Amino acid sequence: MGMINHKFDAETTPLYFYFALKRSYEIYAVYFLLLIICITGFGYPLHTLPAAGWLIVCLLARHYINHTFIRWNLLFYVTISAGWICYFLYYYGWETGATSFILPLMLVSMFSLYDTLFNKIAFTVFLFVMRMALFFHCQTHPPVYVFTGIHILIIQILNTVVFFVVTSVICISFSSNLQKAEQHLMLYNIELQQQAGTDPLTTLYNRRRMEEVLKNHIRANPNENFSIAIGDIDFFKKINDTYGHNCGDQVLKSLSDLFREKTLGAGHVCRWGGEEFLFFFPEMNLDNATTPMNEINIAVSKCIISYKDITIHVTMTFGVEENDFQSSISDIVKRADDKLYYGKTHGRDTVIS
Ligand code: GH3
Ligand code: MG
Ligand code: MG
Repeated sequence: MGMINHKFDAETTPLYFYFALKRSYEIYAVYFLLLIICITGFGYPLHTLPAAGWLIVCLLARHYINHTFIRWNLLFYVTISAGWICYFLYYYGWETGATSFILPLMLVSMFSLYDTLFNKIAFTVFLFVMRMALFFHCQTHPPVYVFTGIHILIIQILNTVVFFVVTSVICISFSSNLQKAEQHLMLYNIELQQQAGTDPLTTLYNRRRMEEVLKNHIRANPNENFSIAIGDIDFFKKINDTYGHNCGDQVLKSLSDLFREKTLGAGHVCRWGGEEFLFFFPEMNLDNATTPMNEINIAVSKCIISYKDITIHVTMTFGVEENDFQSSISDIVKRADDKLYYGKTHGRDTVIS
């Protein structure tokens, strides 16, 4: 994943990242406020000054989050949090439980998709070193001020609650984003599969998809009879030459709509090639399939196709073939095609079965 330094904009910004950061700042602001109240309550109003400073910084960072580069935002967040952890441990000692705030920092860094693996590892090492340094410092140096009795208990509870709230907010925002991304990908995949099997001009199945349909059907119903028909527009080249390619496209679209309507419930139709269509009739022998094909042939010749102020009539030639339980799909199609060719050389506008 490449590193991208983008300013806030709807296209490129991972919104969940901003969401997590904004909520974190808000929670931390409440935390500093509560801390100020508690420490004032303990009778040390002067000790509240650093917390008041961090509160203001948090509110400023929250306010300017949308105007700043993503990387700067991350850096602010890390500086504010890490600074607070160091200050708090240095001043009030290991007992306060402020080290837990390292975890939300790590989560933000890990889930930030804009970072490289190297940066993530480097950042983890940095946090680890920071934690160990603080640990050894606390082991060897007494805190500047020691909370005792109920005071340390209140501070510990406050730190624990805020740690849990911040961590869960970060986890929820990142995990629901992952879920959304996964759902989005699934839908996109389905759409792509549909597109891959659809002819864009006529929106009928394309050849690939029809071959799949045929193969799957035969595999699932090996003893069932079926028929296929292949149809080709008569003198289609003339339509293109006379009225233009767009008009030819309109003819293909109109005929496709007609085929869709006529085969509904009885069979499938696809655009097999340029101006050739393949019909598939499951559970039908040659005679059964010839009936709908004759109807389709008549419907085509009666169909009035309008393009701009032109009215076009076309005819088609069809070859129908049934399954003989021996031949491959391509052999059956070939035989249908031979019949089609026979029809082409014997006057066109016909169904050969
Ligand atoms: P026949 O009755 O023997 O089938 O004559 P024909 O003119 O229909 O046959 P031919 O194979 O000579 O011409 C087929 C034409 O179909 C040629 C090609 O330009 C046209 N064609 C193929 N695909 C498309 C398409 O997507 N749009 C348009 N407008 N024309 C297409
Ligand atoms: Mg042709
Ligand atoms: Mg043709």
